[in-house]
Amino acid sequence: MQILVSNDDGYLSPGLHTLVAAMRGFGTVTVVAPDRDRSGASNSLTLENPLRATLTESGYYKVNGTPTDCVHLGITGLMDAEPDMVVSGINLGANLGDDVIYSGTVAAAMEGRHLGLPALAVSICSFTPTHLETAAWAVETIVHKLQAEPLPAEVILNINIPDLPLEKIHGFRATRLGHRHKAEPATRTMDPRGQTIFWVGPPGPEQDAGEGTDFHAVNQGCISVTPLQIDLTRHGQVASMQGWLADVMP
Ligand code: MN
Repeated sequence: MQILVSNDDGYLSPGLHTLVAAMRGFGTVTVVAPDRDRSGASNSLTLENPLRATLTESGYYKVNGTPTDCVHLGITGLMDAEPDMVVSGINLGANLGDDVIYSGTVAAAMEGRHLGLPALAVSICSFTPTHLETAAWAVETIVHKLQAEPLPAEVILNINIPDLPLEKIHGFRATRLGHRHKAEPATRTMDPRGQTIFWVGPPGPEQDAGEGTDFHAVNQGCISVTPLQIDLTRHGQVASMQGWLADVMP
């Protein structure tokens, strides 16, 4: 199996190293990752500047672009053959509910949606994790399961793992995305030259975090697996939309 591994925390992240080690048990791993932390990059592509892919000492390609750039280049230029799957992470910090909209980790997985196996976005629920081995075990378990019992290739699995030792994990839970309250206000401060600057604030607290959500699963010590799709169409509204538009042109 040919596996493309990427992330949004950058090529030096310990989460990336852990994921690469785990995926090497399944085949040939090519790593293409941003040259710096690009968390929050979502699905952006770099179109106005050239991209450089530099082979590092660890054998990874680092790219001066976004997670989406990395996977795009990996699939369309850097790898000799198209990979069988893309695995992204292990992100330091959860990607739950609305986080998915902004996540570069999930975006990197999304960019691998046309391949043979579902793409995986993997996150551990701590910015300073002490149990990355639990996350590695979770990914290995999911990839084994996919090999034994494949899912439709266009599915993206968003996997969130509590930062706990394996013996404290209460199994896997299939979930839907929950929701957060709106984000905290931006922090307004001043640069050394007296000019106003802002820091984007942290995400809001959990709002829709009840049973069945990804928030609920990880709060219960379970590994959350949310199947995602790309199609943003609000299918239930297409027919009534036609009625709503009916009289706009005379
Ligand atoms: Mn990140």
